[in-house]
Amino acid sequence: MVKIRIQIFLLISTFIIVSCAQPQGTLPTYNQELSIEEQKIQNQLFADSWLKAYLNVSEVGLNILFNAVELCREEDQIYGIGVDIATRYDGPEQIRSELTKSLFLTDDITIVATGINTPARNAGLNRGDKIIKINDQTAPYGVNATSEFYKKIRDSKTKTHQILVKRNDQEILINVKAQKQCRFGFFVDLDNNTFNAFADGNFIALSLRMAKWLAQDEIGIPLVFAHELAHNAYHHIDDKKTNMQAGAGIGLLLDILARSQGVQTDFMNMGANMGAMSYSIDYENEADYLSIYALALSGYEIDDAANFWRRFAVEVPSSIYSKGGTHPSTSERYVRIEKTIEEVYDKINKEEAILPN
Ligand SMILES: [Zn+2]
Repeated sequence: MVKIRIQIFLLISTFIIVSCAQPQGTLPTYNQELSIEEQKIQNQLFADSWLKAYLNVSEVGLNILFNAVELCREEDQIYGIGVDIATRYDGPEQIRSELTKSLFLTDDITIVATGINTPARNAGLNRGDKIIKINDQTAPYGVNATSEFYKKIRDSKTKTHQILVKRNDQEILINVKAQKQCRFGFFVDLDNNTFNAFADGNFIALSLRMAKWLAQDEIGIPLVFAHELAHNAYHHIDDKKTNMQAGAGIGLLLDILARSQGVQTDFMNMGANMGAMSYSIDYENEADYLSIYALALSGYEIDDAANFWRRFAVEVPSSIYSKGGTHPSTSERYVRIEKTIEEVYDKINKEEAILPN
């Protein structure tokens, strides 16, 4: 039996060798070891492009989480100082060692970003600072350092924290007072094919391709972040049944990232995945409406917010009509947002609180 199989195999192999056309030219010698080296270079370039997209989102996200806090319910407000931190144990596993290299990560906590207009930024904490001590005690370090640090800040509420950082071999003591922020975490997925963003009740997620496209103009990331924040702030997820199985695969990766943001959640069980999260059109309109308030509260120029939906229409032309879809058409969004911008400006001019009706 085995012999027959071998004969058949040889016969087929011979047939393939004889029948397949072969390139006629002589190629330069190929060194596979060099291509393994090249893999490392390309993965580092990919990691750095992800990092750039992520840091854009982090700067904007921290700003909005703090400054639009009034849109979030009391139960969704926590105390924070506005730092995004990491050790060499954080970040997506596929690019972790590359990120460690680019951000000079160690076992100590490194500040990766401070949002625009956050307590941390205003107190003088900088990207790249290593947190050595907090309130005269050795700062958390190692595997769980980031979540321990966030918890410490959260639990001590309004307290002013004395943070000792190492910056260019100098030790600097900085006092920073914790303030209220919306509790939601955020991340940028490694997916460079999907063009999507979603909110699942706990997190705000952008695909890498979406984050890179949004970064092309000033209002892109703030507007989409504000829209997704609105879904979470107004608990749109409560009425939405998620597909429990669809998200299991991607969930594990998200969960790892989630922990690096210091918010406890389990994406594996929640089954959150890109595309599974969609709301009814009424909720989308409400999120659009609230997004303009979140932007205004966070100090962004809202004049260009309606125009964003024209740019989106050019990128995704099917969204111009969008009949029977999960989202309002970009034409409807443009028209509605123009009205909302008028409403917000009216409140600003009358010196009223910038809060939704
Ligand atoms: Zn939405």
